Amino acid sequence: MRGREPGELLTGLPPCVSPAISFHRIPPQEPHNLTIEHRRSTVTVRVGGVPVGSEHPVVVQSMTNTDTADAVSTAGQVAELAGAGSQLVRITVNNDEAAVAVPEIARRLDELGVSVPLIGDFHYNGHLLLTKHQACAQALAKYRINPGNVGSKRRDENFRTIARIAADNGKAIRIGVNWGSLDQDLLTTMMEANATRSDPSDSTDVYIEAMIESALRSATLAEDSGVPHDAIILSAKVSGVEQLVEVYRRLGARCDYPLHLGLTEAGMGTKGIIASTAALSILMSEGIGDTIRVSLTPVPGGDRTEEVRVAQQILQSLGLRRFNPQVTACPGCGRTTSTFFQHMAQDIESYLRDQMPAWRDRYPAIVDLRVAVMGCVVNGPGESKHADIGISLPGTSEEPKAPVYVDGKLFVTLKGDTIVPDFLRILDDYVERRYASAAAEALA
Ligand code: SF4
Repeated sequence: MRGREPGELLTGLPPCVSPAISFHRIPPQEPHNLTIEHRRSTVTVRVGGVPVGSEHPVVVQSMTNTDTADAVSTAGQVAELAGAGSQLVRITVNNDEAAVAVPEIARRLDELGVSVPLIGDFHYNGHLLLTKHQACAQALAKYRINPGNVGSKRRDENFRTIARIAADNGKAIRIGVNWGSLDQDLLTTMMEANATRSDPSDSTDVYIEAMIESALRSATLAEDSGVPHDAIILSAKVSGVEQLVEVYRRLGARCDYPLHLGLTEAGMGTKGIIASTAALSILMSEGIGDTIRVSLTPVPGGDRTEEVRVAQQILQSLGLRRFNPQVTACPGCGRTTSTFFQHMAQDIESYLRDQMPAWRDRYPAIVDLRVAVMGCVVNGPGESKHADIGISLPGTSEEPKAPVYVDGKLFVTLKGDTIVPDFLRILDDYVERRYASAAAEALA
């Protein structure tokens, strides 16, 4: 399936009353398993060496918050994000200094042995920066263009300039429409057309349609300017969960470009994580979405890589990808009398996280490992048996011992002050025994 032909959208009735564009809600798809076979079908876009599309696993990406002109800091944060598992990293390119720094950032990443593709985020002056700084244009793997932020009088001309540079350099583009910076001329036209209808839609509906129209028109313009159909990714981000789900359902039904999902301005902490998880889970359970970013606002001095871990956990929880061993830990309750249990669960999670870079290299199948850390015998042995390896701590009034289960069977019962290090040793042995042989077999 191809996108629409150039100009097709611009003829006849105003876009908001075009037969091709319906204001009816698209009914949710039937429930299904969360397997890759059920992804919405798309072309594959290669961003650097990373394929994005329905034939490939959903890609995790992130964005730096350093001053791009500071090449040292930015390269350092890109490396951190890539190290945490971000497969693509976006950086702001907002002025000459930033554009000059981009090739330097790429060079520093090369020196660090980090090969993550860089995406340049352009607003207002992208056409000027990419024209003036060819080394920047070449160093980036993809350009993000917001069609609402490429000028007003010369919007299409500026957009075409960026698209032509992308085509000339063999780069992908993401057309990233945003609720907060929607093309106002298009929105006004569609609002006015809607007002003349006998059954006008509500303004939110028109807003959603305007976002979709902006994304699809821009894609047509990009293809008209020489960007191949399979070098275009679309996004249409809003900050409300319900609207985000609706806009992506409709957009996904009208094209076969890969879609970048993300709730814009998701917010801080729990709110941002939950809102992003809610929105992305609904869409991905329907097979919509080929690359995701979780836009969390970090606390001052906070860890930027949190957004990568959250994105990975969303995909892992949905059963779409595996990144890390899964730790099942009970929440604790009145049966766990001290914080010993919480510390132990935390110590085991941290240990796994610290070991993962080395384990992942040595034992690719380690991501399938399931570990249970339970607070008492109520659910402890049962959960431990379902895991590959599990421990059940003694709760209130229970005997001071911690049974450890391996592959569903009682392996040993630990006692005393060294339960945690003893358990970690058993865990190490288990990983070595199980995954070293699997890795050796895979190489044979
Ligand atoms: S397993 Fe035990 S400690 Fe954990 S929540 Fe259940 S009853 Fe409470």
